[in-house]
Amino acid sequence: MRILVIEDERQLAGHISRALARQGHCTTAIPDGAEGLKAILTDPPDLVVLDLNLPGLDGLSVLARLREAQSPARVLVLTARGEVGDRVKGLHAGADDYLTKPFSMDELTARVEALGRRGATAHPGEVLKVADLHMDIRHRRVTRAGRVIALSPREFDVLQVLMQEPGRPFSRTELCERVWQRDHEYDTRTVEIFITRLRKKIEPSPAPPLIHTLRGVGYTIRPPS
Ligand code: CA
Repeated sequence: MRILVIEDERQLAGHISRALARQGHCTTAIPDGAEGLKAILTDPPDLVVLDLNLPGLDGLSVLARLREAQSPARVLVLTARGEVGDRVKGLHAGADDYLTKPFSMDELTARVEALGRRGATAHPGEVLKVADLHMDIRHRRVTRAGRVIALSPREFDVLQVLMQEPGRPFSRTELCERVWQRDHEYDTRTVEIFITRLRKKIEPSPAPPLIHTLRGVGYTIRPPS
């Protein structure tokens, strides 16, 4: 993958770049938010490792601008220890995953590999349908009533898991497992944030809701009754 590392701690940026290069990725490091955003928009990478506390333009603003521009890049944000609010803000702003500093390079490369994998059980060419919501898996394109909806890569993955089995309830833990493929540290709050993000995008008022919360169980997607 082509990976852009936006991190102003030069030593850390160097460690990250070398660890990812060892895994066969092509990495570039930029120590400034504004410069990083420019690089993303002019020559889009597959994945961005984005520190939140940056000179030039802070990470949350970089994230907001690149999602506004509908960049398909996957984004892994780096958050400072103890700043739980940053993690939640990062996910709301369109990040696909996060790592809390300090982290090991093994943890970083595992997250990057997981983000690089496409939706777990994709059947290329298949179009999934729930009422007027259509998902073209091969082109990673989602429409509702014919209107294209721009989703971040991880939003797409969450929606794909739900749409593959309409009506089937998914627990937060199972969704986390299917989408993030972590074998520990399930963070169900992350799933809740992604469901909120999806609802905002695919259920604009007055369109009837498709994603339903099943109290004490989790979520399911189904046509309006
Ligand atoms: Ca920093």
